[in-house]
Amino acid sequence: MDQPDIGTVAADARVPRRRFLQLTGTGGVLFVAGCTSIAGKASKEQVNYQDRPKGAQQCSNCRFYDPPGTDGRTGTCSRVQGDVEPDDWCSVYAEN
Ligand code: SF4
Repeated sequence: MDQPDIGTVAADARVPRRRFLQLTGTGGVLFVAGCTSIAGKASKEQVNYQDRPKGAQQCSNCRFYDPPGTDGRTGTCSRVQGDVEPDDWCSVYAEN
C-alpha cells in the first residue's frame, strides 16, 4: 500500500492553517473595527448632539459629563467626542 509522502501531507496541512489565519486575521480586523464605536466615544452626529438642553436634561446633570476644570479645560463627556458644554444635550443622556 502506498503511503503518502510526508512532504505532501505537510504541504497539504499548511493550506487549511493558512486559510484559518487568513480568516481569523480578517475577522480580527473586522472585530476591532466594530468595537471602535463600542469602546470609543460616539461622534456628536451619532447621538443627535444639540447646543441646547432638552427640557431639564442637559450635560451638566448627566452622569457622563466631566465639567470644565479650573485650568481652562473645556467640559468633556465619557461617551461623546469633543468639547461638551454644560447646557448642551444628546440622546445618550442619563440622569446623574
Ligand atoms: S452623554 Fe450626551 S448629554 Fe450626557 S454629557 Fe455626554 S453629551 Fe452631554
